[in-house]
Amino acid sequence: MSFQPPKGTDDIIAPESQAWRKTLRLWDDWSERYGYPLVNLPIFEATELFERGVGETSEVVIKQMYTFADQGGRSVSLRPEGTASVVRAYLNSGHQGVWKGAYSGPFFRYERPQAGRRRQFWQVGVEYIATPSPLADVEVIELGYRFITATELPDVALLINSIGDPVCRPRYVAALEEYLREHESDLSAESVSLIDRNPLRVLDSKVDGPKLTEAPRTLDYLCEECAQHFASVKEGLESLGVPYKEDSSLVRGLDYYTRTAFEYVATGLDAAQNAVGGGGRYDGLAEAIGGRPTPGVGFALGIDRIMLALGEPQRPHLDAYLVSETGPEDALRVASALRDEGIRVDFDVDGRSVKAQFRTASRLQVPVVLVWKGEGQPVDVQTEGERAMLPLREVSTWFSSR
Ligand code: AMP
Repeated sequence: MSFQPPKGTDDIIAPESQAWRKTLRLWDDWSERYGYPLVNLPIFEATELFERGVGETSEVVIKQMYTFADQGGRSVSLRPEGTASVVRAYLNSGHQGVWKGAYSGPFFRYERPQAGRRRQFWQVGVEYIATPSPLADVEVIELGYRFITATELPDVALLINSIGDPVCRPRYVAALEEYLREHESDLSAESVSLIDRNPLRVLDSKVDGPKLTEAPRTLDYLCEECAQHFASVKEGLESLGVPYKEDSSLVRGLDYYTRTAFEYVATGLDAAQNAVGGGGRYDGLAEAIGGRPTPGVGFALGIDRIMLALGEPQRPHLDAYLVSETGPEDALRVASALRDEGIRVDFDVDGRSVKAQFRTASRLQVPVVLVWKGEGQPVDVQTEGERAMLPLREVSTWFSSR
C-alpha cells in the first residue's frame, strides 16, 4: 500500500483509540457538569475570521494556516483554534446575556511535526461569554484543572498571570519595549524584529523568553480594576483548593486578550511540548471580529498531548468475547442480548472453529470469554483464574458484580 497518512497526522486506531474514547467521554461528562452545552461548529471558516480573531501578526495566522480558495473563489481556512468561531457563533445566535459552550474536535496548523506537535490535532475547550466576573475565570480554570486531574495525568501545574487591559497595558508595553531595546544584542533577529510590532511576543519566544527573567512584569503595572480582578481570581482558586503558581512570563501577544492568562503544564513531558492547554480572558475579541463589545473567558486543551503524557493505554475495548459452539447465527442473537444489557462484546461472523475463536479472544486480550454451548445450556464464563456456568439472563448481573 503506497498511501500514508499526510505528514503530521495520525491514524488513531485500537487499542490506542480506546484511551482516546475514555478521555473524550470524560470531557463530555466534566464539561456538562459545569453547565457547558455542546457547540459543534464548522471545521473551516472565512479566512478573515481567523485573521481578525486570532490576529494578523500571530504566528498561527502568518505561518500555520491551511488556507485555500473554494470552488466559489472564497478564501477559507481550516480552523486553527476554536475561540474565534465560538464567539462568532454566539454573536450570530442573537442571544443576549451570559452564554456557555463546550467543543471537542480536530484543529489544523501547518507545524513542523514531532511528538505532541501535529498538523491535525484534537482540542477540547469551553468559552464563558458575556460576563466580566472573575468568578467566571475561576470556574473555567477549575473545570480545566479538574478534567485534567480526572484523566489521571500525573504532575500537572497550573500557571496564571494577568496581562492587564487597554487602560494599563500601554504603560507596561512601553516599559517592556524599552527594556528589550536595551538588551537587543542578547536577542535573536526574530525577537528584535518583534520589538516594534508586538513586544509581548518576545516574552513568549522559546529562544529568548527564558533569558528575560529581569524584564518588567505585567503584574507591577496593573491598574486598580485589573489588580482587583486578579486578586479575586486567586482568592476563588484558593477557596476551591486549586493549586496555582504565578508566572509573569505567561502573556498573550494580542490586544483583545485582557487580564487573566493561564496554562496547564504536564511537568513530566518534554519542555517544548509540555503545555497541555491554556486560556484566558478576551474581552476585546467580539469587537475585533465585528460584533458588539462582549467579554469572555475560555480555554483549549490539547488531547494529543494529554494522551502522550498518559502513556500507553491498557484498557481493552471489549468486556468479553463470545465463542459459539453452535455457529455464528446463535452467536449473533446471544451477542445482541448481551449488548442490550450494556456488555461490550464481539464474536466471529465467519463460522470459524472453536479453537480459532479462542485465538481471536486471546489476540484481543479480552478479560472474559463467554462460551455459548446451545439453547437451554448454561453459558461457560471464563476469566483468568475463575470459571462459572450461568444462565444467559444472569450473565449481566455477574458482570456488574465484578
Ligand atoms: P493554543 O490554542 O495554541 O493555546 O493551544 C492549546 C493547546 O492545544 C496547547 O497547550 C496544546 O496542548 C494543544 N496544541 C496546540 N497546537 C498543537 C499541535 N500542533 N499539536 C498538538 N497539540 C497542539
